[in-house]
Amino acid sequence: MLRYLKRLEDKDVALNRSMIPLGSCTMKLNATAEMIPVTLPGFSDLHPFAPADQTTGFKTLIDRLSQWLQAVTGFAGVSLQPNAGSQGEYSGLLAIRAYQEANGQAHRDVCLIPSSAHGTNPASAASAGLRVVVVTCDHDGNIDLADLVAKADQHADRLACLMITYPSTHGVFEEQVMEICRIIHARGGQVYMDGANMNAQVGLTSPARIGADVCHLNLHKTFCIPHGGGGPGVGPIAVAAHLLPHLPNHPLRDDAGPATGYGPVAAAPFGSALILPISYAYIRMMGADGLMRASEVAILNANYVAARLRPHYPVLYTGVHGMVAHECIIDCRGFMAEAGVKVDDIAKRLQDFGFHAPTMSFPVAGTLMIEPTESESQAELDRFCDAMITIRHEIADIAAGRLDRADNPLKNAPHTAREVTADVWTHAYSRQLAAFPLPWVAAAKYWPPVKRVDDIYGDRNLVCTCAPLEAYARAAG
Ligand SMILES: *Cc1c(COP(=O)(O)O)cnc(C)c1O
Repeated sequence: MLRYLKRLEDKDVALNRSMIPLGSCTMKLNATAEMIPVTLPGFSDLHPFAPADQTTGFKTLIDRLSQWLQAVTGFAGVSLQPNAGSQGEYSGLLAIRAYQEANGQAHRDVCLIPSSAHGTNPASAASAGLRVVVVTCDHDGNIDLADLVAKADQHADRLACLMITYPSTHGVFEEQVMEICRIIHARGGQVYMDGANMNAQVGLTSPARIGADVCHLNLHKTFCIPHGGGGPGVGPIAVAAHLLPHLPNHPLRDDAGPATGYGPVAAAPFGSALILPISYAYIRMMGADGLMRASEVAILNANYVAARLRPHYPVLYTGVHGMVAHECIIDCRGFMAEAGVKVDDIAKRLQDFGFHAPTMSFPVAGTLMIEPTESESQAELDRFCDAMITIRHEIADIAAGRLDRADNPLKNAPHTAREVTADVWTHAYSRQLAAFPLPWVAAAKYWPPVKRVDDIYGDRNLVCTCAPLEAYARAAG
């Protein structure tokens, strides 16, 4: 079993091998010390509906964690029930709707969402029965204030809320954020802050400070719960005092929310409670000063990457002082005309260096969004930047005709061990360049297990990977 698991692990690029610079995803260190409590039977063997008098320890942990998250957000109350950021969005929007209904404003059903928003924002708004109206962004990536005022005025009578991500998914601290909140409040709307980018705020500012009414946090981003395999997650919501009566609750546990709440959004009263000790341990071990320092280093690291890459790749959006927040978007759209290179080719080529690709084509098609997080050392940031710069030189070599336009290491990436060691090698560049593009790559070579998958073919053609029916018949016979 152990060997099987190890074999699976070897096929993967995970955080125990190299940084995963996925923008908006905050792939930070999941410290072993934080992970150990998940295996303790006192946590792992507890049934979600165990009687309250048998779960007082867990309840203490839940209460303390809730208080800390209140302090982090500046809000008056927290619900740990939502199992994902997206579920937090849905829960927070329901809180807004319940509040407005309680105040005779049930007709408010318009939700403004900037065009840069994460796809879960409009999906959650639609699920909560809201009509989505998109607000455009200006050429600096900020919300277009004129368009915001126009849309807010146009829908003032029916304006339920604005969903805003701060810092934005463009990787910039939107300077007008407080003015934006005032514009919405002046028209009777509420402000939902998507807190997935909280890693740039903790200890430095807060959703309450900027004037929002409710936010979700991704404990599986900012607060160290591992993610990327599809869950489980924790997407708690934090709310201002006026929304406290409208948090989710649970019919089987009185202490899971206010009696006036709208009911559960998850099956279990405290959601994915088993993984809460991870975030608890992180916050407890870091302390308030440590959390603030993490935010500072996360922002510093992103700016370091942006500064090292800027001579080679355009950095798409920056604030007025030329700085980014905790992530940066680099523009790869020009390489198509220059060398026939797509952003996918760069993402695949990074595998030959042993790196997971950054977020691709979100929130802007043809770009890469890089979020290093505070977990990475300068040496690791330099390794990543060196790989990116080497790839940029390869693109220049293609443009200059030094590498073939069709048969080059970018178009053929990633290169598998079987391909590189085959008796026949027909490419117009060397095997060394294919597999060991920089000296340090050989020291801990990651061998991609498969070559490139044809994404578009896969999206358009249903391919059944299960065994044919005869196999079951044979097994039964
Ligand atoms: C990750 C993310 C979400 C959704 O969180 P999930 O836990 O994946 O549902 C929402 N908004 C932003 C900006 C995100 O990065």
